[in-house]
Amino acid sequence: MSESTPAANWARSADLACSLCGARDTIVIIPSTLGRVSQGNWSPYACTSSGYGRHGPIVRCRQCGLVYANPRPANDEVLDLYNAVEDPLYVAERAGRILTFEHHLKPMEQFTGPATGRALLDVGAYTGIFVEIAAEHGWDAWGVDPSRWAVEQARQQGLQMVHGTLEEADFENRIFSVITLWDVIEHVTDPLSTLQAAWQQLEPGGTLIVHTMDLDSLFARLMGHRWPWFMEMHLTYFTRTSLQQMLEKAGFTVSWMGAQGRYLHAGYLASRITALIPLLGRPVEWFVSALRLSNLPVRINLGDLFTVYARKPQ
Ligand SMILES: [Zn+2]
Repeated sequence: MSESTPAANWARSADLACSLCGARDTIVIIPSTLGRVSQGNWSPYACTSSGYGRHGPIVRCRQCGLVYANPRPANDEVLDLYNAVEDPLYVAERAGRILTFEHHLKPMEQFTGPATGRALLDVGAYTGIFVEIAAEHGWDAWGVDPSRWAVEQARQQGLQMVHGTLEEADFENRIFSVITLWDVIEHVTDPLSTLQAAWQQLEPGGTLIVHTMDLDSLFARLMGHRWPWFMEMHLTYFTRTSLQQMLEKAGFTVSWMGAQGRYLHAGYLASRITALIPLLGRPVEWFVSALRLSNLPVRINLGDLFTVYARKPQ
């Protein structure tokens, strides 16, 4: 994996067509923080990489309003990077992710009904944490991911994983009742084609669940160009409106949208605060430990993450 992107690759992908409407008519709304784009260093796409604040130019389509990174490295290069991702830190943060996914699963089953052995596919499943939780709750749970390392990690735990992208992976004619995309749609090179592929893999009446960042949220508006989700591994920045439009274009009917947060253990959160602000964090760590609250789940939601439930019509 190369550390820098050759200028030619940036140039080749410049003036990318809008994934929602196909136009090539954009205006830059957030300038690049990489200096001259042709010399931008391209960090590996590790899931927990701290690339906050580093990104290329972010544009808005003047025809439909979709916001996306443009120019950016060529699609095959993006995929090569994901194929090569190895991210032991993600494995270390497993506990927090289990909490988050447990909390995602409950409202999901209120919508989809109980598992009863039905097939579920988690797209961008990575090391398979959601696949594992869904399987424990009775789903015939599958994952698909472009990272060979992550797929191998998941398979070693006995999980059902397919290597590749949703568009290209071979599911051997398997059709799913539920497909989930947790924090994935913002990473894919052509989100409309991903949603269309999800439509193909779903049974009629099946449910698609998409969780991503909300560019229209109050927190995003207050933060402006300092919104931490502006980072180079995020290729599309949805609003509730643009995601609904894209889902409808792919054939889905949107049933529900709402802000859903993430969960961390109080002990982990306190250690993160100490890393940022030791004077504040150390008393918090002492307090959490004295009261034996380390394993208490803490919900983090600044309102800038949202979930959409959509249905493939019968
Ligand atoms: Zn557009």
